[in-house]
Amino acid sequence: ARLLNVRLATLQRVMKQAGMDADTSHDHMLSSEYSSLLALEFGRNPVVDDEAAFDIHPPPVLADKSKLPSRPPVVTIMGHVDHGKTTLLDTLRSASVAKGEAGGITQHIGAFSVPVKGEADKTITFLDTPGHAAFSAMRARGAGVTDIVVLVVAADDGVMPQTKEVVELVKKDDNVGLVVAINKVDKAGADVDKVEKALFAEGIQLEAFGGDVPSVHVSGLTGKGLDQLVETISLISEMQDVRAEREGPLHGYVLESKMQKGLGAVATVLLLRGALATGNHLICGSTQAKVRLLTSPTGQSVKKALPGDAVVVSGWKELPGAGDEVLSGTEAQVKKALANRIRKAEIEATLQDVDAINNSRREERERREEELLVAKRDRRGQHAGVQPEKTTEEEGVKELRVLVKGDVSGSVEAVAGAIQGIGNHIARVKVIATGVGEVTESDVMRAKAAEGSIVAFSVKAPKAIESLATGQGVPILSSSIIYRLMDDVKAEVIKLLPVTV
Ligand code: GDP
Repeated sequence: ARLLNVRLATLQRVMKQAGMDADTSHDHMLSSEYSSLLALEFGRNPVVDDEAAFDIHPPPVLADKSKLPSRPPVVTIMGHVDHGKTTLLDTLRSASVAKGEAGGITQHIGAFSVPVKGEADKTITFLDTPGHAAFSAMRARGAGVTDIVVLVVAADDGVMPQTKEVVELVKKDDNVGLVVAINKVDKAGADVDKVEKALFAEGIQLEAFGGDVPSVHVSGLTGKGLDQLVETISLISEMQDVRAEREGPLHGYVLESKMQKGLGAVATVLLLRGALATGNHLICGSTQAKVRLLTSPTGQSVKKALPGDAVVVSGWKELPGAGDEVLSGTEAQVKKALANRIRKAEIEATLQDVDAINNSRREERERREEELLVAKRDRRGQHAGVQPEKTTEEEGVKELRVLVKGDVSGSVEAVAGAIQGIGNHIARVKVIATGVGEVTESDVMRAKAAEGSIVAFSVKAPKAIESLATGQGVPILSSSIIYRLMDDVKAEVIKLLPVTV
């Protein structure tokens, strides 16, 4: 209704007339055939574009993943403020740079990879952006990027409000594994027992009490217990059996993005499925990339990234948003999907504009009505006794007599109904006749006889009739937009009002 610029009720009426009685609820999804029919009814020229809905979506998840290659688990560290998350991440991050590796510094890109001791090909991907906008965005759309949560609890502080929040979050999500890290065990006031009992009381089934949630005693400051933490995470992920396809289209999420000198827009992409290589065509929100450069968290340039990896991707047209989904396709697919996403965004923006225009029209209408009232009050004072030129039975009331023509009877009724109410007790609209079809000679003559006007909704007056009307002094107000007609009619009504100084 908004796109056609008609009232919802009008659209519903026309839908009913077209035999769509059952489908006129506001949330009914119209087929392209029906929507184009309706657009025709309202005098529009619909174009059905079968390609218009094209977008790239992640491929469906396989029911049986057992044959796929395993991937590194994605781990998030969570917990109460000051319980040592940052310190723990920093210490873990420094373990992520293998000794003697060129560069030697792990960049802050939103994630890093830690090798599992004694298991040459195993790594763990830690996200270091908890509480980050990307996180809330991903969680809000139900994207489970995290396989395992490490709940950090300071041994000297115990269970705190944010600790409980994490507990609730993990309980709700069956797909997320949990490892408890009792931190700051090096501190004098540390009481591991007390903390574990408190966690158990919160419903965390710790191994120490016969459950299946491991608890590791660590110190982010001294590094004590961190090897064991990494091993425990690795064990949990083996039980979870996290696997993903390395072939086919890719699926990932943006963890962070920024403008970088010399590279333009860059984004850290956490890859969940598929392989990412230079030259790939990506789509993300309403931007795209032809992958120019891939950089690992340790600053190395890499040719390819696999599921579970986080890499910095350059080659974006515009800066992608943190938390946005990254997908791949052929150059043509990406181009088409992007054009459609942008068009969709534009339509949404247009709908908002239409809303704004309608609102301002309503305000304008209210303002004019207010003016009419003021004019009435003024007239009482200044023009007492002045006889209006055109009066009817009801003394003092001027009338704008109109004859309404429209394309279908439903719309004629709607227009007549809408304009019938215009005016006040000084000047108002009177509908003298209605009819379906083009404006005819007899309409003009009838309007002339009544000293009225013709309102034509979504119908034309042939050229000859138009000049006849002009000759006879019969105004024809025509439009296929009800609001515009109403405004025109209002303007005519206002002309009937006495001029006030
Ligand atoms: P976050 O708010 O959870 O990220 O906590 P931080 O990592 O910022 O740590 C808060 C404070 O606790 C800092 O002063 C750290 O130095 C200190 N801290 C963190 N981990 C440990 C630890 O294992 N032992 C001790 N003694 N202090 C720690």
